[in-house]
Amino acid sequence: MCIFCRIAAHDIPSSIVYEDDHYLAFLDIAPVTKGHTLIIPKAHYDDFTMTPGTVIKDISEIARKLTKHYDAVLRPNGYNFISNAKEAAGQSVAHVHFHLIPRYDEMDGLILTFKGKEKDKLSEALKIDLKVK
Ligand SMILES: [Zn+2]
Repeated sequence: MCIFCRIAAHDIPSSIVYEDDHYLAFLDIAPVTKGHTLIIPKAHYDDFTMTPGTVIKDISEIARKLTKHYDAVLRPNGYNFISNAKEAAGQSVAHVHFHLIPRYDEMDGLILTFKGKEKDKLSEALKIDLKVK
């Protein structure tokens, strides 16, 4: 059983901020900002590419609810809502989880940059191949 399945089963304690029959949200043990939260389904899926769309939809709704609550309690100036799939993307626990990260300013604990690289630009042919038909 993976560590997040054990947290979902309450075998391992966590700081739970939301729970229902199918989902759990808890505070990250190594928060990058105040209120950094992980939202998981209690059922195990390796990552979001393996997770049914309905589950991702439910998690998005829980995240939205939490932002309404955190707006009142933590008063952040923004949020990041991200999920890493597989090691190459920085996934460290192979149980799908979404990070809800309250943001206070650009100098807080999360550095997230999008640096376009010329060498990664796509050919016109590849852009056509990428379209979902
Ligand atoms: Zn699991």
